[in-house]
Amino acid sequence: MENNMLDDQDFLVASISQLSISSNSSQPVVARFRPEWLQFDLDSDSNNLVRFELRNSKLFKLGPSQSVCVSEASEVNKEKNYSRGITIQFINEEESRAFHCAFEQRKKDVTVQGSFLPNGTVLSKSKFEDKIEASSAKMYFHYYGQLLHQQNMMQDYVRTGTYYAAVMENRADFVDRVVVDVGAGTGILSLFAAQAGAKHVYAVEASDMAGYAHKLVAGNPLLSQKITVVKGKVEEVELPEKADILISEPMGTLLINERMLESYIIARDRFLIPNGKMFPGLGRIHMAPFSDEYLYTEIANKVGYYYCSRCCKCPTGKTRDGYLILFLISTQALFWQQQNYYGVNLTPLHSAAFQGYFSQPVVDAFDPRLLVALAVSHEINFMSSKEEELYEIDIPLRFIASVGTRIHGLACWFDVLFDGSSTVQRWLTTAPGAPTTHWYQLRCVLSQPIYVMPGQEITGRLRMVAHKAQSYTLELILSAKMWGPGAEQGGILQTSSGKFDLKEPYYRMSQPQAYPMAQEQTPQQLLQTQDLQTLSQDEGSDLLQ
Ligand code: SAH
Repeated sequence: MENNMLDDQDFLVASISQLSISSNSSQPVVARFRPEWLQFDLDSDSNNLVRFELRNSKLFKLGPSQSVCVSEASEVNKEKNYSRGITIQFINEEESRAFHCAFEQRKKDVTVQGSFLPNGTVLSKSKFEDKIEASSAKMYFHYYGQLLHQQNMMQDYVRTGTYYAAVMENRADFVDRVVVDVGAGTGILSLFAAQAGAKHVYAVEASDMAGYAHKLVAGNPLLSQKITVVKGKVEEVELPEKADILISEPMGTLLINERMLESYIIARDRFLIPNGKMFPGLGRIHMAPFSDEYLYTEIANKVGYYYCSRCCKCPTGKTRDGYLILFLISTQALFWQQQNYYGVNLTPLHSAAFQGYFSQPVVDAFDPRLLVALAVSHEINFMSSKEEELYEIDIPLRFIASVGTRIHGLACWFDVLFDGSSTVQRWLTTAPGAPTTHWYQLRCVLSQPIYVMPGQEITGRLRMVAHKAQSYTLELILSAKMWGPGAEQGGILQTSSGKFDLKEPYYRMSQPQAYPMAQEQTPQQLLQTQDLQTLSQDEGSDLLQ
């Protein structure tokens, strides 16, 4: 055939038929998507072709592998200004599905790109593009387009194993159901869903990982018939049918980083049938004050533990090619304390620099014994939340200190629930003391610690405001009454606050070598978190070992 090379948007269909034309049934027809057209080449040199203007065409399913394409009369298409239709016979059901997806997508592209508001502004393409800076999205999808990073997540066995268990023990929710995998990556969750007996899975992935997903699916022939990989954003792609169940792994650091929960909710509104299921269906952020003198000193003195320039800063703590992690210790705080830096006094900037050291939230796995009060939690129900509710999350905080100590900030972690028809409620938790995941835990360290007595109330709030770089600004305030002589009369509050950019976390993977592992804190400070209530203290420390 002419243009022998089939590109990404070309399909081989078994045959087409129209009143006046009919393809030679022995030879497949090439259906080509062009920017404005859907074109069927009936012979090898494209002399005999049928064209449909996408803007005016519709595609209907007649059967699993047969559809009809109808074009309405059009002014643009002057030569053929009457309605027409052709029947398309696909090679198989899978090709039919893929063709429908491509058709809907192309048609949408044409319709939106060509739509102008009366004042001449082009309609924005999707909610995603309205909310997210193009440069951030480009870097984000570039990151996920690399197998290295997908492997990183797949090798988090707590994560992937919990998803596998959740799908398999809830087979009943997948058998003969249509599934949409929201942000499919390599397609691993789609393959799990297909293993569990799904009727069909649409694996939607925006990054170039979609190509690899296609390859992985094709390489698993027992399952591949049941999976269609669709490249695009869930906010933008069109799917030929609604889903009974959505599966996704949209969680970032502190659950909300990356703002992918919003995409999950948009996918729910676009694709899920009423009362359909979501795996996971809800998430909780847990928060508790902590005391960690070593971490505080490390930040205050800006004693940095840097990875060498050849190492990735990925949260696994693994170096990219097995290079040794090189620790450089520098006391950068002293830098701004110089009064004679080439004759210039740098101290006016010292306090701003000091504050700056604290603006990065710290990501690492910490000992739950550092927590000094029972955690409070904030629930996000993925089944019922509105997407806009995630733009700003304001959580009031109230704790009772279990010991007298200096509080250095707020520790946070999250969990998500798979609540299917099985009697087991399966949680994926990132709690301190539980088996470590690639999310670790997150701590917001305050530049001004707060002193508390045992039983004292600590109040405050954590406000998280989404920003266009697919992350959040965190604003933390913690207060506690002063104690000591005269405190009863005045009731003066000590308040400490900090602002953190969740997009710029400080990955502090290993405990600093200079410090002993066991911190000098009293046994009374051993405190179990909600999620550890069933563990004895000894078991808790075993896990940490
Ligand atoms: N489901 C895979 C990958 C999870 S990582 C797994 O569990 O291993 C999240 C994936 O979602 C990334 O590959 C990312 O590119 C994709 N993604 C994020 N936002 C998306 C969106 N709006 N539309 C489609 N894919 C998206």
